[in-house]
Amino acid sequence: MYICIKAIKEGFLYGCRRLIGVDGCFLKGLMGQLFVAVGRDGNNQMLPISWAVVEKETSDSWKWFLQQLQEDLCIGEGLGWALISDMQKGLINAVNTLFPLIEHRMCARHIYARFGKQFPGKEMQIQFWNTSRATYQPEMQKQLQIMRNVKGGTKAVEVLLERWPISSWCLACFNDVVQCDVIDNNMCETFNGVLVETRAKPIISMLEDIRKYVMNRIVVKREYALKWDFDLGPNIVAKLEKERNKCAKWHIEWNGATSHEVSCDDILSQVKESYVVGLPNRSCSCGKWDKSGLPNTCSFMFNGQALRNRRFASRRTKNEETNHQACRTIEAPNISTTQQEALEILATQQSMTTTESKETPQMSSVKATQESMITEHVIS
Ligand SMILES: [Zn+2]
Repeated sequence: MYICIKAIKEGFLYGCRRLIGVDGCFLKGLMGQLFVAVGRDGNNQMLPISWAVVEKETSDSWKWFLQQLQEDLCIGEGLGWALISDMQKGLINAVNTLFPLIEHRMCARHIYARFGKQFPGKEMQIQFWNTSRATYQPEMQKQLQIMRNVKGGTKAVEVLLERWPISSWCLACFNDVVQCDVIDNNMCETFNGVLVETRAKPIISMLEDIRKYVMNRIVVKREYALKWDFDLGPNIVAKLEKERNKCAKWHIEWNGATSHEVSCDDILSQVKESYVVGLPNRSCSCGKWDKSGLPNTCSFMFNGQALRNRRFASRRTKNEETNHQACRTIEAPNISTTQQEALEILATQQSMTTTESKETPQMSSVKATQESMITEHVIS
């Protein structure tokens, strides 16, 4: 039996990243398995999409479940979609058959649970997670090299890469289309965790419990969203604020065209990095903006420089200014004037806040509104 509630399906398709977590768990006291498909909502929290009861976990049962999902969500062959799982054997076959073009991610937590047993130790654990969270290739190679330098690391890296292809668990290897930086299947585990008690009930009672839980969750989340201060979820706002706060230690240089170089050389925190950021593609060579779809420190720096460049342009001759405006048009083809202005105002405020330690409540309020305008377009 397969269940997918229409309102949830439409909500997911309307507002969520094209990433689905799938998992299966045993039914207590009954022969059978519960399969679940879970997405991520706008506040980075789980959104149960569909669930099904099957006799047992096999390639055929996964195929049947994924077929229903494919039809419901119009996934096609999976182009532009990502799926994350614990890579159960039957599931891998089913995914390969049904979604030849999907990006199949493997839960990094699941990998570490097995890898860590063979190669224990805090240092190894830290390096594993540093590698899986690396957002661009050179960083990934650097973290792997550090892992090799840990005691027993050479063998560990060899086993790790051979047994679990790095393209399935390292953020740097994921494509930039889905723009969701999920590397573990926690959203499925959270949903399964909620259902622990109900999984001991007879099938119909269990399915009724799940339906009621999901229905109540929609109401609770809607009421929660009505209390948000911005159009963005509090978890997203917190992430953006964290990135913005790092700007003070970074510097920026314009290349005269559409890109900027942002760099940080901070002895205290031992950070020495530099990246190229460009607004046309909403992209940064550090990979964070590309992989998550959320602007990071580099992009906040970029917007500050965009304002200064415009002022610089206004001092040029009329002819030169016309050329520069044309350049600006190419720079941000997808951004409306209001949003672009908001980006610039926020950047100005950022430079003010770095020099002035205090700000009035009115400024905070305006800044908050503008920030919501900025991030809204980036996430959409
Ligand atoms: Zn960056």
